[in-house]
Amino acid sequence: MYVVAITGGIGSGKTTVANQFAALGIEVVDADLIAREVVEPGTPALTAIASHFGPGILDEQGRLDRRALRERIFSDPAAKSWLNALLHPIIRSEMLRQCAAANSPYCLLVVPLLVENRLTGLADRVLVIDVDEATQIERTCRRDGVSREQAQAILASQASRSERLAMADDVLDNQSGTTETIRERILALHETYLAFASQQAP
Ligand code: ATP
Repeated sequence: MYVVAITGGIGSGKTTVANQFAALGIEVVDADLIAREVVEPGTPALTAIASHFGPGILDEQGRLDRRALRERIFSDPAAKSWLNALLHPIIRSEMLRQCAAANSPYCLLVVPLLVENRLTGLADRVLVIDVDEATQIERTCRRDGVSREQAQAILASQASRSERLAMADDVLDNQSGTTETIRERILALHETYLAFASQQAP
């Protein structure tokens, strides 16, 4: 399967753009969704987390209490490393499994933290959704109703625009031009990926 990874900072438009590829018939695999699936009740990962951190990490329904976990690892780098060492390989192999099972000419893998988690090797091609930081902040505040300071803090915790662009094979400008212009850019990328995928096919 030819895999195109799509990444970008908070509020850059990954979901919006991925939906347009999906409308063209391309299967979308979502790393954030997988990160939640692998810790659902009954999974080996959740069992391991509960025995490492204690039952207080679960809510009354036996689901992972994300806030409790976040607080637990916030000030404890060793706990955070332990958690990452547990979850990253599981998430990685589930992403690969879902991409391999995709039923479209190529597959789009949405990974918000592709650069931060050094996952560019999972993909044949890396597409960065690019907007400037002011636009990221404006769109995030409008969508989530958070303050500029909160949006700014999330931005600061992520890779910088230039770090991300340095990893890109393709860049989608999701800022300049009309909605129609952006749509045409997406269509052009789609055509390119179809051609790459058919060259790769045995
Ligand atoms: P996150 O990483 O926070 O999940 P994201 O990269 O998936 O964000 P989206 O949710 O797709 O970003 O987009 C952020 C906001 O910006 C949404 O409200 C979306 O409707 C809006 N948006 C996306 N693309 C454009 C555009 N080209 N013009 C105007 N608004 C846009």
